[in-house]
Amino acid sequence: MKQRKVQKGLLAIALFALLPLSAMASDIEALLQKAESVRSTDPKAFAAALTGLDEIKASATPRQLRQLRLLKAYQKGITGNYDGATKDALAVLDEAPEVSLQFRAALLVANLAAITRDFSLGLRELEKALSLADQVPETELRHQGYLVAAVIYNQYGQFALGQHYAERLLAQGSSPRNQCIAHQLRVEALYGLNAPDDEAGINDAIAACNGQHETIPANLLRGYLARRWAADGKTSQAIDLLESHLPEIKATKYPWLMGEIHSLLAEYYLNSRNLVESKDHAHRALEEGDKNAYLLPRVTAHRVLYEIALKDNDLSTALSEYRQYAEADKARLDEVKAREFAFQLSRHELQQKNQAIELLQGQNDVLRLKQEVAAKSEQVAKKSAQNNRLLVAMLLLVLGVGAYWAYKIKRVQMMFRKQAQVDSLTGIFNRGHFRAQAETQLARCAAVEREAALVLLDLDNFKRINDRHGHATGDWVLRQVAAACHASCREGDLFGRLGGEEFAILSCGGDLHTAERIAQKCREYLAAIDASAIDGGIPAITASFGCASTKLCGHSFEQLFMHADRAMYRAKAEGRDRICMHEENRPVPLRLHVPA
Ligand code: GH3
Ligand code: MG
Ligand code: MG
Repeated sequence: MKQRKVQKGLLAIALFALLPLSAMASDIEALLQKAESVRSTDPKAFAAALTGLDEIKASATPRQLRQLRLLKAYQKGITGNYDGATKDALAVLDEAPEVSLQFRAALLVANLAAITRDFSLGLRELEKALSLADQVPETELRHQGYLVAAVIYNQYGQFALGQHYAERLLAQGSSPRNQCIAHQLRVEALYGLNAPDDEAGINDAIAACNGQHETIPANLLRGYLARRWAADGKTSQAIDLLESHLPEIKATKYPWLMGEIHSLLAEYYLNSRNLVESKDHAHRALEEGDKNAYLLPRVTAHRVLYEIALKDNDLSTALSEYRQYAEADKARLDEVKAREFAFQLSRHELQQKNQAIELLQGQNDVLRLKQEVAAKSEQVAKKSAQNNRLLVAMLLLVLGVGAYWAYKIKRVQMMFRKQAQVDSLTGIFNRGHFRAQAETQLARCAAVEREAALVLLDLDNFKRINDRHGHATGDWVLRQVAAACHASCREGDLFGRLGGEEFAILSCGGDLHTAERIAQKCREYLAAIDASAIDGGIPAITASFGCASTKLCGHSFEQLFMHADRAMYRAKAEGRDRICMHEENRPVPLRLHVPA
């Protein structure tokens, strides 16, 4: 028995050796294609194809090996080995000269990072993929990229970008299934942008998904239709719509969808005073919905349960639900902030990369000119061998030009460096440079156990100035504010514009009291800004301040920033034009600040 097995094995090896190399290569190609085609639909066949490929990979070409590695990364991702999958995909991205493979690898990393919540990595790789999209020859693959972009940007709260990529897919006549998902992502993005699509638009989207039997996006879309109706006061119509599709929704077993729909029903039943149904749906949102604490349906469900308990005079349940509501809301808020922060960071990295490229180009230009001058001087030297006097004169000239260009190089270098560090409107440090400097200073403070304090400030109702007096006046105000805050800093303090109408001051050696004094001084200087020259005048310029110190949150920039930001955000919520301190165990306000 054993012997027969060995013989069979030997026979296989012999046959294998006899196969011409080209046949092997085409076998590999066929298996690779097979693996690709069943990758997302049939895990067993996918695993079998990969095993088959492993057996004959000795004769694979380098490109085939890279493709195999990427397929293995997919398999690791499917089986939950996200770190391994990310590592493999990054390696393919690094090694592969093929644009399509790079594109797929970057998209895979972006997808995996969305699962592991490595927001910065996800955005970086997504942007890498998008920058390659135009060179990807396969239309379907390119469309997959746009789809991933729309999903991820929506998830990160960057709805304008989500809308952009969803609409690009719709415009490019993608496959009907892609069209359905693109419709759903577009409606989601418009809702996120506070400009919800109209009823006809949402109905078209539902029809596109029904045509493809795509139940999940179709019902997510019904959720948006219900929101639209509820906002127009048609609550019972919204309830009927969602109730009539509940069996279908349940059959999807998709927690995200169930959480969304049950939480909407809980809210709408509460508004129509049907407390029994409302409570039931709130519980179902919590039990059957996605369990991630930061998701909105959980916030809504706990709030609904709290309000019902309050109406029932059940104070202990009310207290417990309120506590869970506050916790979920805080988790959601932290999540929103973390994603926004990652987005800003990735944008900044991109900008810095572009500036570095410009700097290099500038240096290249200077180098080229230098070479031209050198070549000319050589020519001149040859020609005027008989005329020494002319040669000396020319050499002096060349020396002069050389010195001039050396000076120019230095100037250009300094200019580019400054451009990369300074905010062009106000002349103070920009976000990236402020952060880099702040991290260095904080590390220094940590080494000698010195305290440091951070003041964040955000102008109040600044948008109104832009809206009423135009952008140029807004810019003028920003410059005045930068000057006023600069004057409030102590010597050695770090001051920067974080973006828009948000500024920060880091004071090494300062504590919370120092931060408060700086903020108070800022308030006084802001109040003293003379805006009498502006036509019609403007309301007093005020800001909301948040202060935090390393004493409570350590020397990590991110932690310090987050604490100051929360305090600032409390200042907004408590009525603006004030200073709030970060204090330990102080609850975070329950909703995002809304314009006064
Ligand atoms: P809040 O009190 O809640 O902070 O309200 P706000 O109006 O200050 O805040 P919001 O975030 O709604 O608006 C900020 C505005 O700042 C919107 C944007 O157009 C404007 N802005 C951002 N950067 C600049 C800039 O460089 N120049 C000008 N003129 N306006 C800017
Ligand atoms: Mg503001
Ligand atoms: Mg702001």
